[in-house]
Amino acid sequence: MATIFSKIASGEIPSYKVAENEDFYAFLDINPLAEGHTLVIPRKVETDYIFDLDEDTYAGLCLFARKVAAAIREAVPCKRVGVAVLGMEVPHTHIHLVPLNSESDLDFRKKKLELAPEEFERIAKSIADKYAGL
Ligand code: AMP
Repeated sequence: MATIFSKIASGEIPSYKVAENEDFYAFLDINPLAEGHTLVIPRKVETDYIFDLDEDTYAGLCLFARKVAAAIREAVPCKRVGVAVLGMEVPHTHIHLVPLNSESDLDFRKKKLELAPEEFERIAKSIADKYAGL
């Protein structure tokens, strides 16, 4: 059975898309730690644990995440983009990219932002526009 993230990458389940290519997909986390909090996933490879990925998928995912992080940094005011891999909820490898202004911005225990759909759309578009220009 396909994971929820495979269904997001295929468009079966809606998401706020930030960037994509043939093999990878980036979209806004629906419970963001900060504006611009993005998840980066392999489209079809449903491996749960990132370090179980085959080498090509692992390397491709990291390179894709780097480009998405560059777009986030241009679109969202922040000191830098933090990287985290948890996978405590969804068993489909994903990298969290979180705009950081302080250490506490990467604290997954803190209360998540509640954003309106229009705000998610605005943020996703601003990152997507920067990604397209890279
Ligand atoms: P973890 O597996 O511990 O890395 O957590 C899964 C992350 O995926 C959480 O930050 C969720 O907010 C996020 N998430 C789960 N379902 C969706 C969804 N449908 N759209 C966007 N983000 C999601």
